[in-house]
Amino acid sequence: MIEWSETHLSIRDSIRKFCEAEVKPKLHAIEHEGEPPYEVLRKMIATFGIADMARARFEAQIAKQKAREAAGAPPREDKPRERRPSPEAGMEMAMRMIPIIELSRHSPGMVTALGVSVGLTANAIMARGTIRQKERWALDLLTLDKIGAWAITEPGSGSDAFGAMKSTARRDGDGYVLSGSKTFITNGPYADTIVFICKLDEGNEPKLRKVVTFVLDKGMKGLTQSKPLRKLGLHGSPTGELFLEDVRVDKDRLLGETEDVPARSATKETFTAERTAVAAMALGIVEECQRLAIDYAGTREQFGKKIGEFQLIQLKLAKMEVARMNIQNLVFKQIEMAEQGLSMSLAEASACKLYCAQAAMEVCNETVQLFGGNGYMAEYRVEQLFRDARVLQIYGGTDEIQVSQIARSLLERA
Ligand SMILES: Cc1cc2nc3c(=O)[nH]c(=O)nc-3n(C[C@H](O)[C@H](O)[C@H](O)COP(=O)(O)OP(=O)(O)OC[C@H]3O[C@@H](n4cnc5c(N)ncnc54)[C@H](O)[C@@H]3O)c2cc1C
Repeated sequence: MIEWSETHLSIRDSIRKFCEAEVKPKLHAIEHEGEPPYEVLRKMIATFGIADMARARFEAQIAKQKAREAAGAPPREDKPRERRPSPEAGMEMAMRMIPIIELSRHSPGMVTALGVSVGLTANAIMARGTIRQKERWALDLLTLDKIGAWAITEPGSGSDAFGAMKSTARRDGDGYVLSGSKTFITNGPYADTIVFICKLDEGNEPKLRKVVTFVLDKGMKGLTQSKPLRKLGLHGSPTGELFLEDVRVDKDRLLGETEDVPARSATKETFTAERTAVAAMALGIVEECQRLAIDYAGTREQFGKKIGEFQLIQLKLAKMEVARMNIQNLVFKQIEMAEQGLSMSLAEASACKLYCAQAAMEVCNETVQLFGGNGYMAEYRVEQLFRDARVLQIYGGTDEIQVSQIARSLLERA
């Protein structure tokens, strides 16, 4: 893929219009007054039929799975899927990317809130849950009728998510008792459904414990969801803490209803999805910065000239274009791969995220610089994009963790 198609561009234009009409007027309340972003997000996915498409896809998938079970077929094995080229899968990927790109121009925070609910939480249940669990929790998340949170990070375990994890599940009769705390959890303050990742405490050494995943509902006894944490940027995405004090759950909340679901590899799939999505976010941020920068360079005058006539300003604009082209190519690559029945490996996703996050941050930084004092003022959009882009180098695995992931994969090949 070398360019957006006419169909892509017409979808993009409709979403762009929606953002102008519906997102922009709400942005101040969401970014500066603590209003949760969910109503606008719901309206967005309803307007573009995304919720209906998700429902139809869900129903078809469940029907297929039920038919397999009725025929006595064994559950799908945890092995790489066969490569099956499909133009529809490419279109589906583009349909996932285009709203992310357009919404990221206005609010990367809102994209994060949406992505964590639908992309991480619902998909974690869809990937490993039983049919009953999917019907009980995933459909409402896919349609955004309910808001989801996906919780792995703890106060003492971030990059070393599994190694230092302290949250536990202890067997208790037919069920389990869950304890621990999670932090930096997107949608944590408002989530209706929480995917909670912890270790099964069988009295063994923590590093030998199995990783298990549970699905929790808001309001369960012993579960506390904090207020939103104050943070540098990404105000369109409420982030919070979760505290679990002896939360008693039945086995039907254990994802897959078995302790032997390969939770570590499931989490890696989640990381891959999260990391590749950063390319689309970065593209939206960079395109918006570039648009603002070109406009400002062509109007702002100093020393009797438009600042765009100064070569040092031109260098910034040129580097922004290089970043935009590279990031766009990574977005196109993902669409093309989907069409070919392929997806990025974890190491490729890490490389993609590392580059896109750093490039977006550099573009934001240079745009603020190009705007001079105005770039530092909240009245100008670049200030928010600069604060928001910073998180791309932290969440979903920090830059340093992406580096080690990429290097490990290269060294394994040697
Ligand atoms: C806005 C926001 C939203 C988030 N949303 C979620 C969410 O929804 N769910 C969730 O579970 N988590 C979420 N997170 C958590 C996020 O994934 C972690 O913050 C991230 O993985 C880093 O972990 P940490 O903050 O504990 O940093 P640490 O792991 O303590 O890292 C501190 C520093 O040490 C470096 N470092 C650590 N290990 C190594 C190493 N081996 N080699 C070199 N350098 C290293 C890091 O790169 C970093 O620079 C969110 C975070 C933020 C900021």
